[in-house]
Amino acid sequence: MLNDRLRQAILTAQRERKSVTLLVMDMNGFKEVNDTLGHEGGDQLLQQVALRLESLLRPSDTMARLGGDEFAVLPAGEAGSEGGAMTARKILAALEPPFAIVDRSIQASVSIGIAVYPDHGQDALTLLRHADVAMYIAKPAGRGYAVYAPRQADHDTARLELTAELRHAIGHDELVLHFQPKIDLRIGKTIGVEALVRWRHPKRGLMPPDQFIPAAEGNDLIRPLTRWVLDRTLRQCRLWLESGLDVGVAVNLSGRNLVDADLPTMTRELLDTWRVDPGKLNVDLTEGSILAAPAIKTLKHLGAIGIGLALDHFGSGFSSLAHLKRLPFREVKIDRSFIARMSGEEGISVVRPMIDLGHTMGLKVVAAGVEDQGTLDRLRAIGCDSAQGFYLCAPIPAADLTIWMQRSVWGLVE
Ligand code: C2E
Repeated sequence: MLNDRLRQAILTAQRERKSVTLLVMDMNGFKEVNDTLGHEGGDQLLQQVALRLESLLRPSDTMARLGGDEFAVLPAGEAGSEGGAMTARKILAALEPPFAIVDRSIQASVSIGIAVYPDHGQDALTLLRHADVAMYIAKPAGRGYAVYAPRQADHDTARLELTAELRHAIGHDELVLHFQPKIDLRIGKTIGVEALVRWRHPKRGLMPPDQFIPAAEGNDLIRPLTRWVLDRTLRQCRLWLESGLDVGVAVNLSGRNLVDADLPTMTRELLDTWRVDPGKLNVDLTEGSILAAPAIKTLKHLGAIGIGLALDHFGSGFSSLAHLKRLPFREVKIDRSFIARMSGEEGISVVRPMIDLGHTMGLKVVAAGVEDQGTLDRLRAIGCDSAQGFYLCAPIPAADLTIWMQRSVWGLVE
């Protein structure tokens, strides 16, 4: 029906030299709602959102559900970008009050993309596609809505290309893991290794994670990517164990992983497959990723399996200490920006209380990004438990690290 009305509206506008405005929206975090309240709860939310939209639109406007949690609105008559933006603001305001779903109060939010005929597309399909692009621009910007701008098209094409290539890369072993050791400062020996993913891109060479993890996080690719990282890390752990190298492994998880209710089961299965004790696996998480309620549930589940949790970038965010105390964390990792400033007294006076705070909460403290002997000595003197950094060993391929662990003074305990 939407396609039909959109085509009609475009034909009329063409004849009368007028414009047509299309709004496309989807809900933010709808998957989490489904995961926590079940599909019935998700359905109820969609119905209530639809009712609120309906009550704010005019009877002559068209509203459609595109599928899943995506809706479209086609206002009757000429609205232009400004009119579209006004409708978007009205929609955002209408959805602000919480929804009562399954005895719970749920805060829903949407991202809205706006495209206008003839400026942003000459036919219905192009207009829909461009409204969609604008919606994806609105989402991370957190502004609620965005009007299509042609330069977004380049951004969109590049992002789509990268995503398609990454999907291929995961299935064709183009990803590689490098491992960086973590050294216990008391005994001066390696107690674990952190897996860091890279992409051996056929044209662009070895790409660092910052260049493709955000693209994976923007869609569900982060799931297969994380599965791949976990699988290869645990496999490597098994190989090390079999060659007599008893070392724990750590992986990084994205916030997006934590709202995936299947993550603990998948992790458990991979631990079983590679016969690795859960206590040998650590996961590093950033503060931002643990704030959502479904994430906390997943974290508790991971903790209950016996997996170690570490809070990454400690000090750089807004650590809610109460929050930390309630979660099964074992370790905090002081952000390398603080460690880099440790050459002076002032820098030490910032890091020391962070270490003390971690210890007061019963947590181990790791320093990230140690780049010289002086920093290492100072960290040891102020009671830091362990350290990672280029000075000790940069992230390197597994085969190189195996040799390093056997030969370095900081290698494994004999
Ligand atoms: P991170 O967890 O903070 O990882 C540490 C980063 O610091 C790594 O960068 C590492 O190479 C770098 N590093 C280590 N020692 C030093 C040092 O002494 N000095 C300096 N300047 N840097 C040091 P990398 O490998 O580029 O990773 C960047 C980020 O990408 C990671 O930050 C992590 O957040 C993310 N990441 C890496 N692998 C994965 C993964 O498998 N999954 C997810 N979700 N994220 C990943």
